[in-house]
Amino acid sequence: MNKKRIAILGSTGSIGTQALEVISEQSERFEVEVLTAQNQWELLVKQAIQYNPNAVVIGNEAFYKGVKNVLDPHDIKVFAGAKAMCEVVEMHTVDMVLTAIVGSAGLLPTIHAVKAKKPIALANKETLVVAGELISALTLENKVPIIPVDSEHSAIFQCLTGEYDNAIEKLILTSSGGPFRGKKISELQKITKNEALKHPTWTMGQKITIDSATLMNKGLEVIEAKWLFDVDFDQIEVVVHPQSIIHSAVQFADGSIKAQLGLPDMKLPIQYAMAYPERLPTAYPRFDFTEMGQLTFEKPDMSTFRNLQLAYDSGRMGGNAPCILNASNEIAVQAFLQDKIGFLQMSDLIETCLKTIPFEKNIMLETLTETDKETRLFAEKAIKNLKL
Ligand code: NAD
Ligand code: MG
Repeated sequence: MNKKRIAILGSTGSIGTQALEVISEQSERFEVEVLTAQNQWELLVKQAIQYNPNAVVIGNEAFYKGVKNVLDPHDIKVFAGAKAMCEVVEMHTVDMVLTAIVGSAGLLPTIHAVKAKKPIALANKETLVVAGELISALTLENKVPIIPVDSEHSAIFQCLTGEYDNAIEKLILTSSGGPFRGKKISELQKITKNEALKHPTWTMGQKITIDSATLMNKGLEVIEAKWLFDVDFDQIEVVVHPQSIIHSAVQFADGSIKAQLGLPDMKLPIQYAMAYPERLPTAYPRFDFTEMGQLTFEKPDMSTFRNLQLAYDSGRMGGNAPCILNASNEIAVQAFLQDKIGFLQMSDLIETCLKTIPFEKNIMLETLTETDKETRLFAEKAIKNLKL
């Protein structure tokens, strides 16, 4: 059987490294065709020597020489820069592109991959938040499947498999609630980044970990679900489920609910997306109902964790509003991680940006690129002047 040749965009990150573990475990089925990273060039080189891809791209051009020198004795092409990341996904030897870049930087390479008719395993949710409508139109036009890697969306995708045209009544997106579930606004005032970086059930990259603590991650996932499954925002309900065993569920027109369950491990949805429509055997630990005893559920507290509400609001507004939400959130998280703003000020900043940056109904790529740039500049300035 021919092995599926995977391009991993963002191979040095949490999803990227787990994808490489899956490829090692299923080496009969998959091989690495392309690896890319932004700054961690030493890890990229190590991965390249181990997995022997056709090509690697280092995003930050300052590291090109370092990568090139070490990989010189190997038969691996070395490129640098954002443009090269868009070009490598188009290579005819690539069978699938796993988008595991963090942030809206994933948008352009994804567009190139779709236009080159490459099936996408999508981890980079920000792409669908910023440009969901555009990407949906492009995938339809190019007949390219997008298989979600995000655990909630993978769960929904699995629930929908075999349902053909049966209408979705409601999507139930589960959320762990993050490390600060149950806390009041007054208690969130002095949260430090170290406290926010400790997620109760998942180990992930820094940005998504902070997003999980503010519930922005769930907000981004609501918008991601809207575009992946073509539903209205009123049909997406978030339910807090601290054990992270039910990864999400779908309610159908007859009232029946299908859910997907399992121990929290991102390697499962990564492997599912890469192997779809097959399920490959694994030796991962199994979930035991009687050992767990209880699964609990509650409503999300959207007045304390305002980011989730802001995401619903901007999603409903449409146009460039989710792009403003995403860009201001990327700047907010970065500033929080650099101790420039407090935990609650992240929502203040996003709200200010949504109120200030002009609304545009039109969602051409150029509009979105301009909105992204304008929002980042405005947000940086607002942080400097602390005029939130
Ligand atoms: P991470 O920070 O651990 O890794 C990010 C990767 O992207 C790195 O390889 C980095 O080199 C690359 N990168 C960063 N900036 C870049 C840029 N400007 N241009 C090109 N490449 C760049 O992030 P992660 O936790 O692996 O998350 C990746 C994506 O997957 C995010 O969109 C996240 O929301 C999504 N996701 C992650 C998880 C998880 O468990 N980590 C779960 C669901 C969804
Ligand atoms: Mg998720």
